[in-house]
Amino acid sequence: MKRPTVLVLGAGYGGLATVVNLQKTLGADDVNIVLINQNEYHYESTWLHEAAAGTMSPEQVRYDIKSVIDPVKVDFVKATVEGIDVDTKVVTSSVGTHTYDYLVIALGFEGETFGIPGLDKYALSMANVKAARQIREHMEYQFATWSLEEEKDDSRLTIIVGGAGFTGIEFLGELGNRVPELCEEYDVPFEKVRVLCVEAAPMVLPGFDEGLVKYAVGQLEAKGIEFSIGTPVVEATEEGVKIKKGEDEFEFIKAGTVVWAAGIRGNHLIEETGIESNRARVKVDKDLRAPGYSDVFIVGDCALMINEEINRPYPPTAQIAMQQGDTCASNIVALIRDEPTSEFVPDLKGSICSLGDDDAIGVAFDKKLTGTKASFMKKMVDNRALFMIGGIGLTLKKGKFNLLK
Ligand code: FAD
Ligand code: NAD
Repeated sequence: MKRPTVLVLGAGYGGLATVVNLQKTLGADDVNIVLINQNEYHYESTWLHEAAAGTMSPEQVRYDIKSVIDPVKVDFVKATVEGIDVDTKVVTSSVGTHTYDYLVIALGFEGETFGIPGLDKYALSMANVKAARQIREHMEYQFATWSLEEEKDDSRLTIIVGGAGFTGIEFLGELGNRVPELCEEYDVPFEKVRVLCVEAAPMVLPGFDEGLVKYAVGQLEAKGIEFSIGTPVVEATEEGVKIKKGEDEFEFIKAGTVVWAAGIRGNHLIEETGIESNRARVKVDKDLRAPGYSDVFIVGDCALMINEEINRPYPPTAQIAMQQGDTCASNIVALIRDEPTSEFVPDLKGSICSLGDDDAIGVAFDKKLTGTKASFMKKMVDNRALFMIGGIGLTLKKGKFNLLK
């Protein structure tokens, strides 16, 4: 009998968890697994704010995909996916075409700009490791140029962060530690630097525990970070951003660096498949298949599932992407063995938001945590994710062991 081909697109958390579980369960005689990713490496998206701020090197954030896959069972193809035809079952990439019996779409997230003018062109985003490195280097360039200028333009030293969700707050936490280092490195007086977070909603981390949010804002403000709350960014230009402060009231803030962290969407390729989606996220069936397509699974940030307890979508997180990878793999095994598939049931262990590498807030196993305890827990979660994909070897190589800092 012909071995079925499982084609996995994307080697992020969802894609790698699927592949690693498939290779554990099936033999090379049972299945032909093909993994396509645009880079030879996987990057820990959950650490991109660190690479962007410059508190961690981009090298530390990524690892070679081949180090976690079994070459006998998995054929890794470094290529950019360009089109997905779910009717003819053909995927087009920069190196050719690929057919499949089962397809797993795990192409992850892209930054969402909501059509706000100028953001695509003038704001930076930390959607991948190259973009994160660009933010780090852009800030360093601004500091270095200010240092050199005869007529100094202090707005070079203003950093605006759009969005006070988890990404924005984690990035600000890193900046809180990084800005004093940059000042020292580039001979810039600390008081010349302005870091401003602009949030559209009436609070920081909308929907999160108010006490924990108060703690986070206090800690960040103590490091000199300012907040402008309830004031959406409505435009970005080469010079800075315009924010809306009232019915007809706007303010333009000049800034040398604008980082957009105000939301995400699924991968744009989803929108070209013809499968119904909302902001490139597909409301998947309970077993993670695309509605109407029995051979197409979608996992991670390209998938959308409703938490029926609160009638709202589960947030797109690495935690859920990895769990979906596990279920997706076992459902593909079930289909190959002609057995029934199972429902994906998320096992939410909580969420922790770092405030630099020495502080955090969060809720874990129903307990509220702040400070070193929360930071310790966040690093354990990060290490666990590495362990689940690459075992002890990868954890020792890439893990975070400054646990009590
Ligand atoms: P991704 O991790 O985005 O991976 C997608 C993969 O597909 C990438 O390897 C990419 O290179 C590849 N790809 C994309 N397009 C193509 C193409 N056309 N061709 C080939 N390959 C392609 N979640 C948590 O649970 N905990 C956290 O602490 C946390 N922290 C975060 C911090 C930051 C700064 C950010 C931005 C997000 C954080 N998240 C966190 C969310 C989490 O990172 C995402 O939910 C998670 O990455 C989604 O996993 P994924 O597998 O769907 O996609
Ligand atoms: P988000 O959608 O959670 O937050 C975006 C924020 O930007 C919101 O507060 C929103 O009100 C604000 N915003 C939207 N439009 C704006 C505008 N025009 N001007 C100013 N502010 C605006 O996005 P995110 O923070 O990137 O998070 C994406 C996903 O990744 C979430 O599911 C999050 O839980 C997850 N994540 C988790 C962690 C963690 O667990 N530590 C860290 C980062 C991200």
